[in-house]
Amino acid sequence: MTLHILREKTTAILLLTDKSAIRLRLMKYPNIKKESHMNFEVSDKMKTIIGMIGEFVDKELIPMEQDFLSKPLKAISPEIERKRELVKHMELWAPNHPKEYGGMGLDLVEHALVSEALGRSPLGHFVFGCQAPDAGNIEILNMFGTKEQKQKYLRPLVEGKIRSCFSMTEVDMPGSNPVMLETTAVKDGKDYVINGQKWYSSSADGADFAIVMAVTNHEAPPYLRASMIIVPTNTPGFNLVRNISVMGHTGEGYFSHAEILYQSCRIPQTNLLGPEGHGFVIAQERLGPGRIHHCMRWIGICNRVFDLMCSRAVQREISAGKTLATKQIIQSWIAESAAEIQSARLMVLHAAWMIEKVGAALARKEISLIKFMVAGVMQKVIDRALQVHGGLGMTDDTIISFFFRHERAARIYDGADEVHKISVAKRILKEYEGKKVK
Ligand SMILES: Cc1cc2nc3c(=O)[nH]c(=O)nc-3n(C[C@H](O)[C@H](O)[C@H](O)COP(=O)(O)OP(=O)(O)OC[C@H]3O[C@@H](n4cnc5c(N)ncnc54)[C@H](O)[C@@H]3O)c2cc1C
Repeated sequence: MTLHILREKTTAILLLTDKSAIRLRLMKYPNIKKESHMNFEVSDKMKTIIGMIGEFVDKELIPMEQDFLSKPLKAISPEIERKRELVKHMELWAPNHPKEYGGMGLDLVEHALVSEALGRSPLGHFVFGCQAPDAGNIEILNMFGTKEQKQKYLRPLVEGKIRSCFSMTEVDMPGSNPVMLETTAVKDGKDYVINGQKWYSSSADGADFAIVMAVTNHEAPPYLRASMIIVPTNTPGFNLVRNISVMGHTGEGYFSHAEILYQSCRIPQTNLLGPEGHGFVIAQERLGPGRIHHCMRWIGICNRVFDLMCSRAVQREISAGKTLATKQIIQSWIAESAAEIQSARLMVLHAAWMIEKVGAALARKEISLIKFMVAGVMQKVIDRALQVHGGLGMTDDTIISFFFRHERAARIYDGADEVHKISVAKRILKEYEGKKVK
């Protein structure tokens, strides 16, 4: 099946249809100018890459998960590093990052498929050098960084020699309304002096630098008040207060979320990323593709727990000679999960394709739709998989409970469900203003 996009001036009309229906529509609307096709066929190149990644995840990463769940990160870090080296030798490192910096340079739809394959294990993205928040920071450094910034921060970041974090959300201000920032960066001589309290700066523990969002001009219109500034974490005044305990787990290193106090943190003005006052514009660029990466990672998680659920259902004998798989309620969960995963997956691939074709700004509706839709599907599928496993599902003997704890946050970060729903509904309703529907 081919998904057709028709464009009438600037308005995109989406139709899931066959070619004859398209011809009919063109006859009805002769001013429809351009037609392009979304093809769901996966290229031979991508089939090979996905096949290699799938095998690597199954053979090298999934067997490490029990240690990952039960031992301190330090104990397994050398093994994780060995796996990262292996990935580099296989030339599968940094699939979504620019070739000139050592990545594979895959486009967004291609990387969506990679992200799905890697999402099956919590170690996947980190071992392949395409983990958040570094992935988003790499994107904006590549788009907005100066030559010096690219040399100093972007290159070693893509190479996996250093890590970074993104420091925007504040303890006392609503992250859902980011224009309400309290952190300031005040000019003093050739420097900015940053003061503020941030939290949920994921992976700050052990990072070399943070990209900090701070108000540089209180008088400017709300969306032009803030800027992004690169702050090396060894700068005096950069104080990592604690790794926050999240769902009973404090985490460490890459797998952590920090609270950070910026106390008279002095940074050269040359560390400004992009133009002053363009913090929100840059943040928007960061979030579009980032949501595709997350959503396809979540589809990978759905696939993994779905496999575990089905496998448990056919093995677990629940009465003499009868397995869980013979029970209609379990069959219903399996059928519903399969349908939900499939529809969520197609929606994400479509949104990725839209971003490739028309850019993130014109694909905002599609991006918001997938963000809350896929997060919700994932939560339901994980919950069903846990339920099918009974008491075993609650233990850390399977990966399900890890996903249950850690992925609840999907409905909160990168825009809470409610924010995306409101934004989508407003966009849709606008299309009906002044229009009579019979
Ligand atoms: C695991 C995790 C990792 C994160 N990583 C990072 C990171 O690396 N860097 C970073 O800067 N931040 C990060 N965050 C923070 C995240 O971006 C914020 O938590 C998010 O933006 C929500 O902001 P808030 O927590 O202040 O909630 P609030 O803004 O206080 O919102 C609370 C709740 O109110 C509801 N709500 C909000 N607005 C509306 C509305 N208009 N109408 C109706 N209901 C509404 C929603 O249900 C929302 O969950 C992370 C968060 C988590 C949980």
